[in-house]
Amino acid sequence: MTHPTTFKPGSDADIHKIDPRHVEGDWDKESAAAQIEENTAKSRELAYKLYAEDRRALLVVLQGMDTAGKDGTIRVVMTGINPQTFQIKSFKQPSETELDHDFLWRIHNAVPRRGNIGVFNRSHYEDVLVVRVHNLVPEDEWRKRYDKINAFEELLVEGGVTLMKCFLHVSKEEQRERLQSRLDEPHKRWKFSRADLAERLLWDDYQKAYEDALTKCNTKDAPWHIVPSDRKWYRNLVVSQLLLETLEGMDPQFPAPEAGLDGIVVE
Ligand code: AMP
Ligand code: MG
Repeated sequence: MTHPTTFKPGSDADIHKIDPRHVEGDWDKESAAAQIEENTAKSRELAYKLYAEDRRALLVVLQGMDTAGKDGTIRVVMTGINPQTFQIKSFKQPSETELDHDFLWRIHNAVPRRGNIGVFNRSHYEDVLVVRVHNLVPEDEWRKRYDKINAFEELLVEGGVTLMKCFLHVSKEEQRERLQSRLDEPHKRWKFSRADLAERLLWDDYQKAYEDALTKCNTKDAPWHIVPSDRKWYRNLVVSQLLLETLEGMDPQFPAPEAGLDGIVVE
């Protein structure tokens, strides 16, 4: 279908060697759109079964540089999934209350409940990305977080939560174009933030922080996927495919109905 997105646990996540414009095979925008629709329809059925089964949950983690398309991916890939079975959580700068707790406190609280799919738009990975790049905590503190994240994700997996972690990989040039269009197109201006320009200057530091996070937290049970994201339609195709494959792998089942229902007539 699409190309493999995972890499071997223990090996380096060489994102600089992966082309953000990559497209596998002869997909194009039109064929991708049709396939996304088919994938979403199938995912919807499986999400409904997961909800009925009410035993396990799926957590989709979306990370990427500014403009990588976290919001757009959610809009396109999750459209059509029953909202009752599904929650989205966007992580912003931590509040004062959140900062009074350990970094995983707000995260754990947002993990989807049994039967649900949860999407994290940014996540606990910010605590080894923006936090590292801006020295928001001392180095000896953030360095310990990779192991803590792995232990936390292991806890989730053992508790019946499947993780699907996606890094939306855009190039610096593509980011430039997308930021520029937020300035040039009036209906996109609301998305523009001067802070994004300051972050862009730290591009190399962020790429390094991403490589480390993806390398250190790429475990067998909670692998990272690297999604080429310069072409929005390919990014959406890959994520919709991953969502479907993940749900198929979980293989949710309707619970067995009560015994002895045959022949009951409702008066
Ligand atoms: P946006 O996703 O564009 O709404 O921006 C959210 C902002 O919150 C980004 O600049 C993130 O880097 C920032 N953010 C998210 N999580 C954290 C965190 N744990 N510590 C500091 N900043 C964060
Ligand atoms: Mg932003």
